[in-house]
Amino acid sequence: MKYHVGVISGDGIGPEIVNEAKKVLNAVGTKFDHDFEYEEILMGGCSIDATGVPLTDEAIGQAKAADAVLMGSIGGNTSTSPWYKLEPSLRPEAGLLKLRKSLNLFANLRPAYLYEDLKEACPLRDEIIGDGFDMVIMRELTGGLYFGERETKEVNGVMTATDTLTYSEEEIRRIAVKGFDIAMKRRKKVTSVDKANVLDSSRLWRKVVEDVAKDYPEVTYEHMLVDNCAMQLVKNPAQFDVILTENMFGDILSDEASMVTGSIGMLSSASMNDTKSGLYEPSHGSAPDIAGQDIANPIATILSAAMMLRYSFDLDKEADAVEAAVRQVLKDGYRTVDIMPQEDEKKPYFTQVGCSEMGDLIAGRV
Ligand code: NAD
Repeated sequence: MKYHVGVISGDGIGPEIVNEAKKVLNAVGTKFDHDFEYEEILMGGCSIDATGVPLTDEAIGQAKAADAVLMGSIGGNTSTSPWYKLEPSLRPEAGLLKLRKSLNLFANLRPAYLYEDLKEACPLRDEIIGDGFDMVIMRELTGGLYFGERETKEVNGVMTATDTLTYSEEEIRRIAVKGFDIAMKRRKKVTSVDKANVLDSSRLWRKVVEDVAKDYPEVTYEHMLVDNCAMQLVKNPAQFDVILTENMFGDILSDEASMVTGSIGMLSSASMNDTKSGLYEPSHGSAPDIAGQDIANPIATILSAAMMLRYSFDLDKEADAVEAAVRQVLKDGYRTVDIMPQEDEKKPYFTQVGCSEMGDLIAGRV
């Protein structure tokens, strides 16, 4: 089958890591008889240089027309790059915000998976890690506190700031459906996280999630208060499969969950709307400090491409093959510099490779 993939290589290490993800997708194409056709889309600093703006209408049109969009990362050194002397609406990240809005990407999915061979990078104690953990956080991305009315004004002579947290039933329902759909592709467990003992928006959240759950009798679900969830993530992370939550709770919990995996170069993410399309990108930034040196870790981008296969194209076998290839390369002892053990006595057991060789090794194992 033929798939039309929009590719935002972006800035910094973006083009290097995206190149490796394409290598791996091409290996999937050869093995499983698919044809991935790529169309480069300009966004971020490279778009500012070429067109004067971080995202053109033409680029938005290209992204909308693609079956899915794979992205590296955008932005430069925020202290030294001339892009950051521009007004905020013309800076690289304004392009990404505009793209998310144009594609109506209301659901953000971030996995936190502990690789057997990278257990040492996990800051948790061995008895907590146990056999590892494998969860995803499904975060609502376009509503809640970050998008509500806000104001700062003087009230009775005292400066007072107000932010409002609003969710409609419809906004909750569409993200809940995404969460349960993802659970059906995994271990079929949803933990819906809220603060229903205090917040009205959370009480509505709970009610709608319970309603959506009725359509998924195979999925076990539970409610958990957000403060308890923050604790459980470091106490017993293995209990989670899909964590479903609103925007601000998800922002905080997804960073906590990614920290417990121990390595930023390994973490993928997907942003989705209510079509099959989506935007797939690593969780890290454009790492301008190491750009152009062939030392970046491409695994987060390769795993983002695997998510694209699974969630936009329904190619589960193919996604499994990519994830298995990543695990095998790690088992075989290959490491980019960011995941090399620090201790001298351990280094002889591993082979340090660059970005491009890591891509070759993973593609080879697909
Ligand atoms: P960063 O994630 O780019 O880098 C933080 C540190 O992690 C750096 O030391 C970097 O070398 C390292 N690192 C990141 N990815 C790596 C990889 N794949 N392999 C090895 N090491 C890796 O964060 P930052 O330095 O705060 O931001 C740099 C630029 O990226 C900024 O312009 C920022 O706005 C942008 N950014 C973009 C996105 C995005 O495109 N979605 C996300 C976050 C930051």
